[in-house]
Amino acid sequence: MALTVVGSIAFDSVRTPFGERDRMLGGSAVHFSLAASFFTEVRVVGPVGDDFGADELGVLETRGVITDDIERVAGGETFFWRGHYDFDLNVAHTDDTQLNVFADFDPKLSGEARRAQILFLGNIQPALQQRVRGRCREAEFTALDSMNLWIETERESLVAAIGDVDCVLLNDAEIRELTEQPNLARAARALMAMGPRVVVAKRGEYGAALFSGDEFFAIPGYLLEDVRDPTGAGDSFAGGFLGYLDGRRGAGDNVFDHTVLRQAMAYGSVLASFNVEDFGTERVRSLTREQIEERLRDFRRITHFEVEPITM
Ligand code: AMP
Repeated sequence: MALTVVGSIAFDSVRTPFGERDRMLGGSAVHFSLAASFFTEVRVVGPVGDDFGADELGVLETRGVITDDIERVAGGETFFWRGHYDFDLNVAHTDDTQLNVFADFDPKLSGEARRAQILFLGNIQPALQQRVRGRCREAEFTALDSMNLWIETERESLVAAIGDVDCVLLNDAEIRELTEQPNLARAARALMAMGPRVVVAKRGEYGAALFSGDEFFAIPGYLLEDVRDPTGAGDSFAGGFLGYLDGRRGAGDNVFDHTVLRQAMAYGSVLASFNVEDFGTERVRSLTREQIEERLRDFRRITHFEVEPITM
């Protein structure tokens, strides 16, 4: 059974100190799907407009992503995001967000999409995330990502959506902002008190921290000398993380086990590191599983960290 993801399917215009791109394929669900597709079958849910062409769809389909649950809205325009980064690539500055077809989207969700065992609610309106969560009753492990825009404009519905999932992945600054706790340990506890058993605090180039039950683990980012565009790093991390978890679940392992979650963090870091090497989806779309395993081996050598392999 494929993993289901809902989130933005977008056109992104992005400027970084290393270049710029206009209306390239992006969106939380797209970055997530491409990363997760190396480990498991992925089904993506979301609307697109008339401007979303065969080339964009082809990027997903070439990676084997199931696109049957993408709804084309006649006369509509695809979600659009414009942002830029200064020399601190850990901070994205949003210049424009146009929800377009997402504004009144009510997902139909095929039977297959509803039966997913692993569900990722990628960054999009929290009310929509919660609606999709409510329709996927069989999911064993559900995870959610969000951002400062929704914390600031839709806080109540975001807290409600968080209450319905097992795991939240957010930037450390967003966890502090949401919980109004300056200390990350306290902020993660406060977030877990809203419902989720697992919290992943993403820390940009510095890696990510895992809180599950009483346990804590931190993993560095894979050190890179050339980073061109960090857009989608968080979603690629989530794709590596949940894709690996789905693989372990398929092998009969308990995905709530702290050791399994720690190992999933390593795949998250590796996928995020590939994503930032080029603009948008350019690097991940040409990636191979062999390149992922090679970088993972290097990452394990540097960090002295053991990861159990999964086969696809
Ligand atoms: P990240 O992984 O956090 O860098 O997310 C990058 C992606 O988030 C971009 O490809 C954007 O299209 C998408 N995005 C930006 N703002 C929003 C928003 N308000 N809702 C949903 N997706 C967004």
